[in-house]
Amino acid sequence: MTEYTKPLPVMEGLVREFYGRCQKEDLHFQKCTSCDAFRHVPREMCPECNSFEWQWVRSTGRGTVYTWVVVNRALHPAFSRDAPYADVVVEMEEGVRLLSTVVDCTPDELEIGMPLELTYDAVTEDITLPRFKRRG
Ligand SMILES: [Zn+2]
Repeated sequence: MTEYTKPLPVMEGLVREFYGRCQKEDLHFQKCTSCDAFRHVPREMCPECNSFEWQWVRSTGRGTVYTWVVVNRALHPAFSRDAPYADVVVEMEEGVRLLSTVVDCTPDELEIGMPLELTYDAVTEDITLPRFKRRG
């Protein structure tokens, strides 16, 4: 594996739990046990009903392209060789949105509503990032 030089999540608290599951290729989102709302990014309190009661629930791994931005000039040097690339907001079947990338298409092939499925990218020994590829 070549050295991964891009910024990585800070592995603390709920973020550690989220990426720990990703490392096992098992994407989960938090679901409020008071109002059943899913949420992401991980946090202690439900933004819908303010409850602190929740559980991790396995994601279907399916979503669609909600929107994206094409980066032509990277703002961080570690991403400069990737440009142009698209940062994609994926709307998951659970209703949460996840910022990621689509690994099997170029920015001009993206379409709003394009069906996607989860894939995993083990960027370091400890961190696996959720990515997406075209579905169907
Ligand atoms: Zn709630």
